[in-house]
Amino acid sequence: MFKRIFKFFLKLLRNFIVTFIFCEFLIYYVVIYQCNYKSVDNENINDGLKAMILADTHMLGPFKGHPFDRLRREWQMKRSFQTAMQIFKPDVVFILGDVFDEGNWVNDKQYQEYVDRFHTLFYVPSTTRLYAILGNHDVNFHYAMHPHLVNRFSKAFNFTSGVNLIREKKVTADGTKRIVNFVTINSMAMEGDECYLCHQAKEALKSIGKKLEILKQKNRHSPPFVMQHFPTYRNSDENCIEIDSENTDITVYREKWEVLSKSASEFIAKTIEPRGYFSGHTHRYCMYGNDYGIYEHTIASFNWRNINMPSFLLAVFTPDDYSISKCDMPKETTVIICYIVGTIMPIIFAIINCKYPMRNLVRNFLRFSLIRIKFSPAAGLSG
Ligand SMILES: [Zn+2]
Repeated sequence: MFKRIFKFFLKLLRNFIVTFIFCEFLIYYVVIYQCNYKSVDNENINDGLKAMILADTHMLGPFKGHPFDRLRREWQMKRSFQTAMQIFKPDVVFILGDVFDEGNWVNDKQYQEYVDRFHTLFYVPSTTRLYAILGNHDVNFHYAMHPHLVNRFSKAFNFTSGVNLIREKKVTADGTKRIVNFVTINSMAMEGDECYLCHQAKEALKSIGKKLEILKQKNRHSPPFVMQHFPTYRNSDENCIEIDSENTDITVYREKWEVLSKSASEFIAKTIEPRGYFSGHTHRYCMYGNDYGIYEHTIASFNWRNINMPSFLLAVFTPDDYSISKCDMPKETTVIICYIVGTIMPIIFAIINCKYPMRNLVRNFLRFSLIRIKFSPAAGLSG
């Protein structure tokens, strides 16, 4: 009896270990491996600048959520990010804001712990550049956005946040150096008034516009991509060309809350004439042809706390063209179903077996009797 119980528990343990390895490690490879960079017309894919773009990681801080919730979400994000880094090896990674969930609440000591945790989760090798863009959860909205919050974010990521021109260089197989331009924008400073950070952001954007104009006159121009937290103005996701299959409900967006104001969107479009926009903040994916005739990709949250099936983008950029692939991550519901099938179901079957021992006894007795009848010499003669 003891031996049977021991064997049963060994079986349960084996099931649990196999399920755990699948749900916590292998599933990330199985799902993420299905995605890949898309080629750009007439280009060798390795000559383009390879980028991975994600948004709204919302790492929990000391105030909100249960510690288990924090542990679970950070493990999922770490596994997804590191698996993707291993498979796709991008040249550059952009995180489009709301890196931290409580970045605007924590003190400097807590912030440092936050940043250390971030670098463990989103570790990149020295050959990859990582740019983190400001979100409202990192520095707060408009007047609540103190310069100290912006400065410590810049210091943490070794990158001047706010409004910046990034000129990414890519050397092709034949040794040609090519530049792809990106403009990072502090969306919360795009209020159009004369608040300190808003004024600074407006002037920085104008100066980038002039720099791009000079490059255009020298025939060294490649229109930039906007990387920002808030999407440019749209009324809702009703007119999205592509959208998450699971999040199809229509919410009306408010200017300066869910999306940039009409005037800020127009200011960006006219000042730097981008050829593409990337944004986050709404937590769901939308590919949209915006009011200026340019495609905008709003990226879903990278955190399962906000969405059942998070996703990120892979992009290949050249000075004249680009391609985008949307990569889904494992569904939370799939992981739960795997755990149920792999560990809970065998326990339920075992309980059913224990609950009806008489049925098993009768079944075994009948099976034994039939074998005896089949093999007894009398049974052979009478047949
Ligand atoms: Zn946000």
